Amino acid sequence: MESYELVILGGGLAGMCAAVEAGELGASVLLLEKQDELGGSTVLSSGYMAFAGTEMQEKAGIEDSKESLMYDLIEVGGKVNKKELIKTYGQHQLETYKWLIGHGVEFRTLQAVSGHSVPRGHTIDPHQGIQSLYRRVKELPNVTIRFNAPAKRLVKNNEGRIDRVLYESEGESQTVTATKGVLIASGGFAKSEELLKLFAPQLDAALRIGGEGNQGDGIQMAWEHGAWMLDLPYLSGTYGFHPSANSAVKSQGLAFYKGGIIVNQLGKRFIKESLSYKLLGNAALMQPEGISYQIWDQTVMEKAVADDPLYDFELLKRRRLLYQVDTIEELADCIDVPIGVLGETIRSYNSGIQSGAETEFGRNSLTHNYGKPTPIEKAPFYAFESTVAMLATYAGVAVNPEGQVLNSYEEPIPGLYAAGEVTGGFHGAGYVTGSSLGKCAIYGRLAVQDALKKESEIL
Ligand SMILES: Cc1cc2nc3c(=O)[nH]c(=O)nc-3n(C[C@H](O)[C@H](O)[C@H](O)COP(=O)(O)OP(=O)(O)OC[C@H]3O[C@@H](n4cnc5c(N)ncnc54)[C@H](O)[C@@H]3O)c2cc1C
Repeated sequence: MESYELVILGGGLAGMCAAVEAGELGASVLLLEKQDELGGSTVLSSGYMAFAGTEMQEKAGIEDSKESLMYDLIEVGGKVNKKELIKTYGQHQLETYKWLIGHGVEFRTLQAVSGHSVPRGHTIDPHQGIQSLYRRVKELPNVTIRFNAPAKRLVKNNEGRIDRVLYESEGESQTVTATKGVLIASGGFAKSEELLKLFAPQLDAALRIGGEGNQGDGIQMAWEHGAWMLDLPYLSGTYGFHPSANSAVKSQGLAFYKGGIIVNQLGKRFIKESLSYKLLGNAALMQPEGISYQIWDQTVMEKAVADDPLYDFELLKRRRLLYQVDTIEELADCIDVPIGVLGETIRSYNSGIQSGAETEFGRNSLTHNYGKPTPIEKAPFYAFESTVAMLATYAGVAVNPEGQVLNSYEEPIPGLYAAGEVTGGFHGAGYVTGSSLGKCAIYGRLAVQDALKKESEIL
């Protein structure tokens, strides 16, 4: 029977960071990837990573600290996330940012994104990130990646330790032994209708965007061995996608975080637009016919960021997904909302913003508590029909800060680790942009460090 020290299930960011770390620590590693290529949801992502105190922030004159980042994570998570997991993120985030750079991952721009008190969204091109980690893996003779090799079941030995993985390769069932640990890094279940129906029926109308292999296999394998689940009640979609978006063409724009507003088919606002786009998504799905529009003016349009996955409004225009007109009346006509109501919505919003007291929903910032909104008054005016997409399922198996999977009594399941989107307990009731890719890189590495350390301590 084949034998490795570590077996990693899944080649997204969590699995690849783990494979490089374990390989550099000298372990023999087998990474099983279900698909014929690496990347999962990681390569579909917008590539924002949440770090604090970086050189990029310093250059942009932004003062930040790990404490402020941890505070935002806990606050936006509704204080129901596991503090010990947030603390570990805080402790390891800056070192992880530097480790990624040291492994060829290029950070490009810095943006203000959802849930942060200061601009903290460090963008990568996720393809470039995965490819540079893959290049490093190819230099490590002790790391093997096997494609088209879905893991199917985990097996315990007589002492109750997970030490084997059953998987398929070239149509055959195979078994591999993992002497020091199995790391589940198989992502979430955004592509499993079965699990979404079971846990998030309220998101039935949401688009589905995510890695094709992300069907909750890892969760199911861990359940069989008693893994506990966290954060299921908080499963949410993400607001801001055009209804035509899909995994290949993800037309998305978050003009509301640059100063746009959101109205429903009645021409009325229904929420404070600076809130997390997950909360916006929940509210948007409850509007009449599930339809809503982002509305903005030329002042906001001029804040567009070319080539940015969230703020490139000119791209949406080139794709002919925006209505652009010279008056609010024409805009109301285009999107078929009552002209008088839309006019009054904008007048009342503008007067609140100008007086510094927008009382209807209490908006006083652009995103979270960062930035000042401006009135919607400078032609041309724009409207972008927007809906909700299920991208990432931030609910999953319970883990401790070492990445060990926990049972319902919060005890580690011997030999079993998990990292990345397959884990729960980190985001709690709300998601802070960039913290998912961040947690993949941080916990992928910590989990394998623990698996290798534990064994050497025993010896
Ligand atoms: C459109 C979009 C935009 C996003 N933007 C951001 C963002 O800007 N910032 C952020 O932080 N997060 C973002 N996210 C979320 C983030 O991308 C994911 O949460 C993260 O990439 C998950 O990484 P992962 O390594 O855990 O899983 P993945 O990257 O999904 O990788 C999991 C891998 O495991 C494989 N796999 C599955 N089952 C098995 C099995 N049985 N055996 C072997 N392999 C298996 C899959 O094929 C896949 O390759 C976004 C997600 C999407 C879809």
